[in-house]
Amino acid sequence: MPRRSRRPARPAPAPPPLRGGWVREEDGWMVRSISGTAATKTYRCPGCQQEIPPGTSHVVAWPADEVQEDTDRRHWHTGCWRQGRR
Ligand SMILES: [Zn+2]
Repeated sequence: MPRRSRRPARPAPAPPPLRGGWVREEDGWMVRSISGTAATKTYRCPGCQQEIPPGTSHVVAWPADEVQEDTDRRHWHTGCWRQGRR
């Protein structure tokens, strides 16, 4: 009787992380965490009006019901994002 090797079904692999971080939804906003190494440009934080220099980890947020890419994205300091939505 031939032996048949049976392999258990593998669980579905976790989705790969997006470059620069994961996207999650918070209160109608899509939020992506940007790591310092992925932050290559200077942005202005709408929370404090200060610049976010390159190399600074921060978050990008855009309305979850908007389909446009890039047009309405805002870059926030991580702390400002947490505080600014209260
Ligand atoms: Zn800020």
